[in-house]
Amino acid sequence: MAEKAIRMQATTLPTHSPANPSQEEETRPLAPGLYLVSTPIGNLEDITLRALRILAFADRIACEDTRQSHKLLHHHGIATPTVSLHAHNEGDRTPELLAELAQGARIAVISDAGTPGISDPGMHLTSAAIAAGIPVHPIPGPNAALTALVASGLPVERFAFHGFLPEKAGARRTQLEYLARSSDKATLLFYEAPHRILDTLSDLATLWPQARVVVARELTKLHEEFLRGTAAELRQTLAARERVRGEIVLLLETGGQPPEPQAQTIAARVTELMASESLNEKDALKRAARERNLGKSEAYRELQRERGKR
Ligand code: SAM
Repeated sequence: MAEKAIRMQATTLPTHSPANPSQEEETRPLAPGLYLVSTPIGNLEDITLRALRILAFADRIACEDTRQSHKLLHHHGIATPTVSLHAHNEGDRTPELLAELAQGARIAVISDAGTPGISDPGMHLTSAAIAAGIPVHPIPGPNAALTALVASGLPVERFAFHGFLPEKAGARRTQLEYLARSSDKATLLFYEAPHRILDTLSDLATLWPQARVVVARELTKLHEEFLRGTAAELRQTLAARERVRGEIVLLLETGGQPPEPQAQTIAARVTELMASESLNEKDALKRAARERNLGKSEAYRELQRERGKR
């Protein structure tokens, strides 16, 4: 305990301040269990006093990338031992951490940025801890999707987070077409990579030409930016740049309009074209591919997938 107290003294934050009146909580030893601690998504100041206290007093911190997390921990003078917990070792690491937790350890989980488990590791260990009857404590804080949503100007009453869209164009289109077939009113949120944003905006422009779209880029960082407009307008703005950089949350308001014809599956469109225009399957597929900006072989693979052959 003495060692932990010294570690905590090294943090740059005042431990007693009007903003943090709970002296009793600060001095009470940390309860055993798994702590899911949210960390900044860009601005190192975006971390709560409670998160810093948990990180300083935990027995170990499981980090998505220990080198990345050391920057944050070092910035706040926290020297708690770390262990890696990422997508490729979470399964193997879980039994070891569970054994420590079962003996009363306090283990914190942090990802590179934001809330652990949200498009990040942590949920396998969390489920295993719950199954083993170990207390799980969420320590709330930054999350890119919610940060983007509240400043987007789009409705917040009903929203759906879809994480990352598939990387392959065909699979991405299929998922977006599926969403476009719904007439639900909601704000949809996606995480998107800068090198795919133009293609994804093209898809949105086809499926929801009138919808309000927001690109939230580099949230909480120096070059934070919100672009608002239709998908086609935002695509034009971003395409005019030499390169699109940074981290992006993409938001779209779906408003209960009837789905665009191109929201049909490729299989449905091929069947329709064969019936309505007397095209053979090959020509119908060629046309459906063109309408979706897909290559012929990609459209063929998608058709096979939709028909359950792959
Ligand atoms: N766990 C994180 C959270 O709670 O937001 C998300 C991790 S996910 C691997 C990383 C993605 O989140 C990025 O590719 C980007 O889409 C989004 N993201 C993270 N930080 C962001 C930021 N500062 N601005 C915009 N998007 C961000």
